[in-house]
Amino acid sequence: MRPDDPSLKRMIPPTLKLHEKFYLPQIVGGLLVTGKHILSASLGKGAITVSYPEDQHVPSANYRGVHRLNKDEQGRVKCVACMLCATACPAHCIDIVGATAPESWSDREKYCESFVIDELRCIYCGMCEEACPVEAIELTGLYDLTGLSREQMIFDKTKLLSVFDLTRDAEPMRYTTPPPKAGPRPTEVEPSGLPGPKA
Ligand code: SF4
Ligand code: SF4
Repeated sequence: MRPDDPSLKRMIPPTLKLHEKFYLPQIVGGLLVTGKHILSASLGKGAITVSYPEDQHVPSANYRGVHRLNKDEQGRVKCVACMLCATACPAHCIDIVGATAPESWSDREKYCESFVIDELRCIYCGMCEEACPVEAIELTGLYDLTGLSREQMIFDKTKLLSVFDLTRDAEPMRYTTPPPKAGPRPTEVEPSGLPGPKA
């Protein structure tokens, strides 16, 4: 498009008055909103805070908190190490190492030997759970998991599976479809849900 194109619409910045240059209308407007909330809360109406931690906040059903790795009915991690979640992740905070599944796992060729999510880099967009073909990764309603160091907020497979154990009753898996190529179920599963020694 040429600069002299008549269809071009030029935006002329408005000339601000002195009080507008100092953002006075915006400041007064903000103070009015704050005063309105203080007044309604002191009258016992419209308080939108809770006395945490005595009162627990209940997030909306659409809230996306920390991740969990789901287990199947046999207690095995559902992940088949397809890497789709890591590929879809815009923050590049998922790191997976796949390995050949034990021979007794006849419904899949691979599983995740290592699965790490950096919860500090994550933007909780939910793209990973959208991308997962076997519903192995889900974001939960947990919002108060904290760490005392950056390292503690890097969740490995054990921790992600423990989040599943923590939330499985309160938040049933949204999907219960079996993994692709489901076949006869293995009879030998390690109690931890993690794969046993490879054959
Ligand atoms: S929620 Fe988004 S940013 Fe976080 S791990 Fe999943 S895809 Fe990546
Ligand atoms: S969590 Fe799902 S998308 Fe990610 S590697 Fe495992 S099976 Fe694939």
